[in-house]
Amino acid sequence: MTVRVRFAPSPTGYLHIGTARTVLFNWLFARHCGGAFVLRIEDTDKEREVPGAVDNILESLAWLGLDPDEGPGVGGPYGPYVQSERLDRYHEVAQALVEAGKAYPCFCSTEELAAMRERQRAEGRPPGYDRRCRALTSEERAARAAALGGRRPVIRFAMPLEGKTTWHDVLRGEITVDNSTLDDFVMIKSDGYPTYNFAHVVDDHDMAITHVMRAEEFVPSTPKFVQLYWALGWDLPVYVHLPDVLGHDKKKLSKRHGATAILEYRDAGYLPEAMVNYLALLGWAYDDRTEIMDRAFLIEHFTLDKLSKHGAVFNREKLDWFNGVYIRALSVDDLTDRLIPFLERDLPPDVPRPLDRARVRQFVPLIQERLVTLGDAPALLDFAFVERPAVDPALYALAAKGVERDLLCAGLLAAAERLAALPDFAPEPIETELRALAAALGLKVGQLFGAIRVAVTGKKDSPPLHQTVAALGREVTLERLRAAADQLQREAVA
Ligand code: GLU
Repeated sequence: MTVRVRFAPSPTGYLHIGTARTVLFNWLFARHCGGAFVLRIEDTDKEREVPGAVDNILESLAWLGLDPDEGPGVGGPYGPYVQSERLDRYHEVAQALVEAGKAYPCFCSTEELAAMRERQRAEGRPPGYDRRCRALTSEERAARAAALGGRRPVIRFAMPLEGKTTWHDVLRGEITVDNSTLDDFVMIKSDGYPTYNFAHVVDDHDMAITHVMRAEEFVPSTPKFVQLYWALGWDLPVYVHLPDVLGHDKKKLSKRHGATAILEYRDAGYLPEAMVNYLALLGWAYDDRTEIMDRAFLIEHFTLDKLSKHGAVFNREKLDWFNGVYIRALSVDDLTDRLIPFLERDLPPDVPRPLDRARVRQFVPLIQERLVTLGDAPALLDFAFVERPAVDPALYALAAKGVERDLLCAGLLAAAERLAALPDFAPEPIETELRALAAALGLKVGQLFGAIRVAVTGKKDSPPLHQTVAALGREVTLERLRAAADQLQREAVA
């Protein structure tokens, strides 16, 4: 059997963390088995459609590298893969069920249904459709249809009234429900569109889907789908209902827990490989300790017996840790290329774009160890790209505690002088020279280094000072040291 799985989003929202985890599991399983990963757009609820949702979903998949083998824009033998392009097929299957007496038109109006529910509530019964149209004769149907005016009846599934439905879920084992608890659900709505309940069963069958791996929220309605398969004489897929991804409060992850849309993580500077690795652990594990697993490893080892039965908590700090690990593993060239868009997006507007790649590359090793996300880079490196960093003079007092202003000025000017004369403008000679200067001036090394750091970067904390100075270059460094001394002197006079 060739494994065929699907991701079948409704374009009613953006792709978020929980769904991305489910998509990843489907994709990994398909890749592990050498099967197919099918994308299908379930756009039958026109009222809930969100503009841009399909694009967001496609872009999210592309960013995560979860490429579909079949789907809209990709093609495949079982298309079309957009439900609104398959309406004829749903009508054909619905009609066949009506003719076989396994489905029926229902003529009840919205008002009638509301009144029905009201009565049921008043009588203390559970609300639900009372099947009043199920037993209509063909003459009665014709009469009701004529009375509808232009309105179309809905088509309902005729659920068996007695007996039980038993089905098997890979994670949950055997599940049995009494058919008396299942309703005559709507298959085709009066607008002619199928419901999710009906359309996805037709599609999963038509697209030869072997495994339905989806969110646990679909467990309660699965017996209805099973009845539909049976009524149609079709084979059931293997069902795998995955436990939810949870927030820190152990409730299903949602907007309440902060950023949940996948592309927000891209834009904040998370690496797709870190995201994929982290998502893979939300409900699956290779063993009880292995955490860092690249895509190839995940594909090789992704089997259903390693799925967890319990909800996994999404932990942003843990994701941060993964991201840092993956950033540190990148080559300087790769990291440079990934950082440039973030720098160009977030550096102050007066910094000319495009940035000089060679210059960016010089600074990348200085921050690689400290980055949690790519988005951290602009704030760490802005000093390297602006004409001259704005320096808050109060920082000198913090960086070079207890040193008088005059001595500080003299120190900065002397540093400029010594660095101007340094034959080799490289980190080690720079450090040796500045240490000697501190000794000569009777300053602590930390005091002098602190003042120089503020002068050349405008920050109290920066990447390692001597590498930073070397990367800035002699000319820029001297100019900033002298300007800083100048600024301090002018303030003393004022
Ligand atoms: N269209 C459904 C949704 O987005 C798909 C559920 C399923 O995988 O069957 O929730």
